Amino acid sequence: MQGTITKAISSFYYVDTKNGLYECKARGVFKLKAQQFVVGDVVEIEILDEENKKAVINRALERKNLLKRPPIANVTQAILLFAIKNPDPNLSLIDRFLVLAQKQDLEIIIALNKIDLDEENLLKTLEEIYTPLGYPIAAVSAEGRQNVEPIKKLLKNQISIVAGPSGAGKSTLINALIDTELKTGQVSEKIGRGRHTTRYVELIQIDDSSYIADSPGFSSIDLDEIEEKELKEYFVEFHEYDEDCRFGAKCLHENEPNCAVRDAVDENKISSQRYRSYLQLLGEIRETKRRRY
Ligand code: GDP
Ligand code: ZN
Repeated sequence: MQGTITKAISSFYYVDTKNGLYECKARGVFKLKAQQFVVGDVVEIEILDEENKKAVINRALERKNLLKRPPIANVTQAILLFAIKNPDPNLSLIDRFLVLAQKQDLEIIIALNKIDLDEENLLKTLEEIYTPLGYPIAAVSAEGRQNVEPIKKLLKNQISIVAGPSGAGKSTLINALIDTELKTGQVSEKIGRGRHTTRYVELIQIDDSSYIADSPGFSSIDLDEIEEKELKEYFVEFHEYDEDCRFGAKCLHENEPNCAVRDAVDENKISSQRYRSYLQLLGEIRETKRRRY
């Protein structure tokens, strides 16, 4: 039988299958290699004790990807969750998350929580910046249970991680998403176990084919795996201009002469806020490299 590892605690793996959740150990040969399996791995299990839901993992299927911090396999989507207020959204942090999520090849959704506090229509401002770039924005009030359903639809058939600053409402949103699912005792029991434990990674089941993970670590990922010249790839709005830079593909759109991207910023065709984020991240990448050597 096949299932997905949703939780790993010491030497136990919890594997979600179509017949429910099994507590598994790795087969002997794997025990030598600690951390052989991670949350998100799709594994083949052999049932040892159906009544007590105990099984052993025979092998893992090939991973589509592996996030390092937090360690989760097969993540397909990032929900970048920011609050309208308390804390105020930090646009350069949004841009940083966008870069990191693209580096990992994830689908991206920007979610704006606490929409009940949006007195100055910040939603519109953010939509003006990010919608033209192709990033969908979903407004939600996790606490007020407003617009939770549309987000749930976006999670369908995905393994999503929620990333965002502390206080944005990540736990509230995850609870709101599973609340609507709390129909059977089995599901509620399953969630109850891990609900308030964010110390280790856990995939929370939204429905048969959808999982979500809170990812306290994602925000602290630094940029050490991104090269200076690679960064501009993740600023999608630069692409239509960068061929026209005098230095072509070599242009970092910084101080080079005849830079078409800088021109586009001057002409307000590219958001100056986004461009500042770019320069800031470029500076950080350099700083990281300097410290390393
Ligand atoms: P996390 O640190 O990202 O997990 O954030 P929490 O889920 O702990 O939420 C932080 C605070 O924001 C809590 O006090 C929540 O009650 C509050 N909060 C969450 N969602 C909303 C919302 O939709 N509107 C308002 N006004 N407050 C919210
Ligand atoms: Zn340029």
